[in-house]
Amino acid sequence: MMWHDAGPSVAVLPARGIYQPGVHFESAETKRRLKNLMDGYELTPRLKPVPFAPAALADILAVHDAAYVERVQRLSSGSGGDAGEFALVGPGTYEIALLAAGGAMAALAAVASGEVRNAYALCRPPGHHAGPTMGRGFCIFNNVAIAIHHLRNTSDVRCVAVIDWDVHHGNGTESAFLTDSETLVISVHQDGLYPMARGGTDAVGEGAGVGFNINVPLPAGSGGGAYLHAIDQIVLPALDAFDPEILIVSCGFDACAMDPLAAMMLSSAHYRLMTEKLLVWSDHRINGRVCFVHEGGYSAEYVPFCGLAVVEALSGVSTGCIDPFAPMIDAMPGQELQSHQRAAIDAARAAAPLLRPVC
Ligand SMILES: [Zn+2]
Repeated sequence: MMWHDAGPSVAVLPARGIYQPGVHFESAETKRRLKNLMDGYELTPRLKPVPFAPAALADILAVHDAAYVERVQRLSSGSGGDAGEFALVGPGTYEIALLAAGGAMAALAAVASGEVRNAYALCRPPGHHAGPTMGRGFCIFNNVAIAIHHLRNTSDVRCVAVIDWDVHHGNGTESAFLTDSETLVISVHQDGLYPMARGGTDAVGEGAGVGFNINVPLPAGSGGGAYLHAIDQIVLPALDAFDPEILIVSCGFDACAMDPLAAMMLSSAHYRLMTEKLLVWSDHRINGRVCFVHEGGYSAEYVPFCGLAVVEALSGVSTGCIDPFAPMIDAMPGQELQSHQRAAIDAARAAAPLLRPVC
């Protein structure tokens, strides 16, 4: 999966011979350095690897239409190109994207079956922006949505909750389950970032799915105080109300303070605390069944420390690795909950039918 290559790029744009080419923000480096940090601190050998295989075409077609899948395949076997909007395909990306979806499927299935207590799928390319007919935002196939469909087709599990804390709105996952009353999708994201005109509190689901989609748009500049308040005030009460059988986290690390594509302020300590809050809930309610699936995060230097904190929390293993950036980030002014952030979270809570008091 580290071999997916968007080609010569300027940040997130193809260089096209008119700009000095560099490496695309969504490169292997963030993921590779996380894996290397886990290896270096001898965490990897203490985890149980979950075998996986590429997703089958039928699994992909449960979420994406055939014309889109053929387009990705054609670009991938040719000279590459954009499979939608900022969804660059390079040589072999189709096969690699099948692996990413297969990794998420295997991780979720292993948690559901009890083979492992929880799991982290360090897969690439990411998935949460990919919709039925087009890729978006570096996402080719929607790994989480594909994994949920596969789980439902192969087990008795019905009710699934997705917590998407990638800093961008999880539009693809929202669209995949908009009318589904058995999938609760909660996206906590930076307000108005990407995609444009998505992620508002008014998107609560459609038809039978009304109430089972919750958006929590947080103001730019939000830090640990705002995120932890959103978890306490919206995510955990919504999980209580929905009562899922298993929990999936679309885990982006682009809300970290060092991300080049967003303007939030999280540190590795905050990612650890958010993970621990979900673990406490899930230990109490669903025997700890939580599956994390990697999404965005573009600071090659800082994503590894945030990812290590999450995997330490999931595994219960403390490596002793010290995050060298944490003192600087945790001391940033505004890390505590601000009044305008509290107001945004109150508004998101008030807009969620699932959280309205029953009288
Ligand atoms: Zn993102």
